[in-house]
Amino acid sequence: MSKRDYYEILGVNKNASETEIKKAYRRLAIKFHPDKNPGDKEAEAQFKELSEAYAVLSDSQKRATYDQFGHAGMNGAGGFSGGGFDFGGTPFEDIFGDIFGDIFGGGGRRSSRGQRGDDLRYNLTIDFEEAAFGTEKKLQLPRSQRCEPCSGSGARQGTEAQTCDTCRGAGQVRYQQGFFTMTRPCPDCHGDGKIIADPCPECRGSGLVKQKRSLSLKVPAGVETGSRLKLTGEGETGANGGPPGDLYVVISVAEHSIFKRDGQDVICEVPISFVQAALGCDLEVPTLEGKLTLKVPAGTQTGKVFKLSGKGIVSLQGYGRGDQLVVLRVEVPTKLNARQKELLETFAAEGGEDIHPQGRGFFDKMKELFD
Ligand SMILES: [Zn+2]
Ligand SMILES: [Zn+2]
Repeated sequence: MSKRDYYEILGVNKNASETEIKKAYRRLAIKFHPDKNPGDKEAEAQFKELSEAYAVLSDSQKRATYDQFGHAGMNGAGGFSGGGFDFGGTPFEDIFGDIFGDIFGGGGRRSSRGQRGDDLRYNLTIDFEEAAFGTEKKLQLPRSQRCEPCSGSGARQGTEAQTCDTCRGAGQVRYQQGFFTMTRPCPDCHGDGKIIADPCPECRGSGLVKQKRSLSLKVPAGVETGSRLKLTGEGETGANGGPPGDLYVVISVAEHSIFKRDGQDVICEVPISFVQAALGCDLEVPTLEGKLTLKVPAGTQTGKVFKLSGKGIVSLQGYGRGDQLVVLRVEVPTKLNARQKELLETFAAEGGEDIHPQGRGFFDKMKELFD
């Protein structure tokens, strides 16, 4: 049985943001939720499929693996085997609780255990040279931090949150659905396990405040578009004492006006006149570290590639460096005055067939082709 693409299941495109994925999941989960479709096997299957897709796409690390390797990557990573989740016994409850605690709890999280903060993604565009040599960047990041006045409790200073009577602090209530015992967030405390009678005015009861903070990031030499830098623990603050998430900085490298990149090699096309190509010349060529003089031998053809060893990009792993490849483009003059025309005609008459060195071979082959 071939598995459907996770993005397709959620009906989002490959570049969808975390919020878009969450929204799509929420909408579909409500539609196919077993509560709404009692006894409907198809809805149940769709719900399972949906939960699996969301579990992967909502986790930036699993998502990256999936983007790269598809379903094969998910099996290999040991995340899910065969057809997906094990829906018997506790694993189901766990997964269910996690996803719904997160989604349906809205801002509120379960208090029964600390929850890891969300991972954050930051898109950073850098110059070609910065990618080649590495750079240091200051990032401005919004992040939720623990609210100081209430020490993260969400209750006004001097007051305390009360344990919820309905769920006795668990944040979730259990109910029976067919063979399964399911849990859902407590309707009274919305999964928090606590009731805040007098919320902290600073954070309006959430215990978290948004703050801008700056972070300095070392971008290593050799990064390219699509490189991801992971900053462990620099994501969102965890709830209820949970660990913080991670920050992923995704690099895109701006195009350069003369250099192109092929892995660790830098490619540069340089135009020369047909006179320079015929007679040979010392040609100034640009490199990432300034100009160099290239000896162009007499009789150089267009498209000829010269390699400048070790003038490319340093490997991201820190050893070895690519080359620069200079591709020569021989240009034919487009405007000739009378005197220049005369000289070229003299030149042609003088050289006979020798002025067209590759022509003879070509016309011989053409003759063979049609004779
Ligand atoms: Zn409750
Ligand atoms: Zn507060």
